[in-house]
Amino acid sequence: MKALRLMKWKSEAEIVELPKPTPAPGQLVIKIGGAGACHLDLDLMKDFGDGQLSPLPAMAWKPPFTLGHENAGWIDLIGAGVSRFREGDPVAVYGSWGCGKCGKCKAGFETYCDNPAKAPVPGGGGGLGLDGGMAEYMLVPFERLLLDLPDGLKPIDAAPLTDAALTPYHAIKRSWAKLTPDAFIVIIGVGGLGHMAVQIAKVTTGATIIAIDSRNEALELATSLGANYTFKVGDEIKSKVKDLTSGHGAEVVLDFVGNKQTMALGASICRTLGDFTIVGIAGEVLPFSFFSVPYKTSLQTTYWGSRVELAEVLDLAAHHLISSKISKFKLADAPQVYLDLAAGKIEGRAVIVP
Ligand code: NAD
Ligand code: ZN
Repeated sequence: MKALRLMKWKSEAEIVELPKPTPAPGQLVIKIGGAGACHLDLDLMKDFGDGQLSPLPAMAWKPPFTLGHENAGWIDLIGAGVSRFREGDPVAVYGSWGCGKCGKCKAGFETYCDNPAKAPVPGGGGGLGLDGGMAEYMLVPFERLLLDLPDGLKPIDAAPLTDAALTPYHAIKRSWAKLTPDAFIVIIGVGGLGHMAVQIAKVTTGATIIAIDSRNEALELATSLGANYTFKVGDEIKSKVKDLTSGHGAEVVLDFVGNKQTMALGASICRTLGDFTIVGIAGEVLPFSFFSVPYKTSLQTTYWGSRVELAEVLDLAAHHLISSKISKFKLADAPQVYLDLAAGKIEGRAVIVP
């Protein structure tokens, strides 16, 4: 089978020929129905490496591996002892693979596994250290990592939800208590994750939504998905947000870029007692001191989300409350898709259908 593989750090991924995986006892192979192209894959190609300088850590895993950590498809091969699935069942893959036994993993938060050394790959999963879904077939090491798709949700539509919706859902859910109808939420970066964040904020909170991006198309998309206000980078955003919020700033700011400029902006438009959450992995640094954010503002990062939250996200989509705006591409197009993603030419999420 063909697969898009990262062969070494600091290189573009390549399409190579690989044998179709076979499942050992307890494992499954799924036929991929869609694999989302995440900006994190670009970071893996460009920024990550061994002995990385701070703030990007040296990973406990390394290439070669097949890319694609946003995956959904159909059960194809079933290893001995697996009882819950039948061939052809449509499933989504929960992407962060922990030990499965610690308290965090049992609660579904495999992202924050307490025993990463006992996970299939420490701190990673399919597409992050092990082979992911940018291939015709993908090996999934444990059945708990597969979620049945609710009726009406197709694998191609579910694939990007496993990260591009799950990650903002987790970040927004963490701040739900602050997102009352009189509150404001700012979403910086309306790409694959950010365009889902706008919808999730819309359907799960009463807050007024402000979206910020450097591209007009992204801001138009944000408006069409329910953002109340949109601002383009360079628009004197700080004073405009202060005007809208009676001088206070927003209760919650989510930064889906994470570079110096966006983090400085986020810190300047968040209010006292607010939440400023950095989700983007541009790998730059925000200086932090007593005065760098308003009093009692929580500065936090979030990583992906839990298995339970993924079930909630799939349900929101099955009820037509959220949907990823996707463009569909063949596996052979994947290298070009990443060039387009880097150039800001992808609207919403690109999904590879091998
Ligand atoms: P994307 O490329 O689809 O979207 C990024 C958006 O940000 C684009 O619309 C772009 O125009 C906009 N943008 C870029 N620079 C900007 C700036 N200076 N100011 C305002 N807007 C700007 O990327 P994505 O796939 O949505 O991923 C977003 C980020 O989230 C990436 O850094 C990715 O690595 C990271 N990520 C984090 C997690 C996590 O668990 N924390 C999970 C997945 C992805
Ligand atoms: Zn664990």
